[in-house]
Amino acid sequence: METVTMEVAGAGAGTVAGGRSIRVLFSEERIAARIAELAADIVAAMARELVIISVLKGGFIFTADLIRALHRAGLEPEIDFLKLSSYGEATESSGAPEILFDLSANVAGREVLIVDDILDTGRTLLFARNLLGEREATTVRACCLLDKAERRMVDVEAEFVGFACPNEFVVGYGLDFAHRYRELPYIGVLGEP
Ligand code: IMP
Ligand code: MG
Repeated sequence: METVTMEVAGAGAGTVAGGRSIRVLFSEERIAARIAELAADIVAAMARELVIISVLKGGFIFTADLIRALHRAGLEPEIDFLKLSSYGEATESSGAPEILFDLSANVAGREVLIVDDILDTGRTLLFARNLLGEREATTVRACCLLDKAERRMVDVEAEFVGFACPNEFVVGYGLDFAHRYRELPYIGVLGEP
């Protein structure tokens, strides 16, 4: 895992919708470089015809970039989506997630890789892992771009982690605050309004 270096957003990265500044934690270039490394690690560890389970909504941008990196590394994954309930307007996780949109794939007998934006309390990943286990996937592994290890409330980890994330609420690259900022190509912390 990489250590986090703080970068102050330069021109172009500093102004976003609502006029709030962003302190960039992970630039577009750093994310792209790390994804290529993650793809190499995944290829070395998993079957060529694995099923990728992208956790919505936050995981969609990471999944899109990761699967193309996996293709370049020689994998032929099947892609499916699982939408689990999230924070809504609040920044605190509450209770167990619920299924809002279920998989269409039958994962029984398959190797699966859960792909999500961030591992925080761990409730989402634990739920997804248990669900895929109940549905008789042979191997269940997880790849999360960010890991906020300090925030863990349940005993779960991801086999593949992009970056250790400081204990701050982050936005961009799929991650939202009150349904906004997912479109940012980098990950950062919102400044004061
Ligand atoms: P967990 O169940 O608490 O591990 O939460 C995981 C989910 O919460 C992630 O997939 C995100 O959608 C959301 N989340 C957790 N931390 C953040 C954050 O800092 N910014 C935006 N969303 C977050
Ligand atoms: Mg999420």
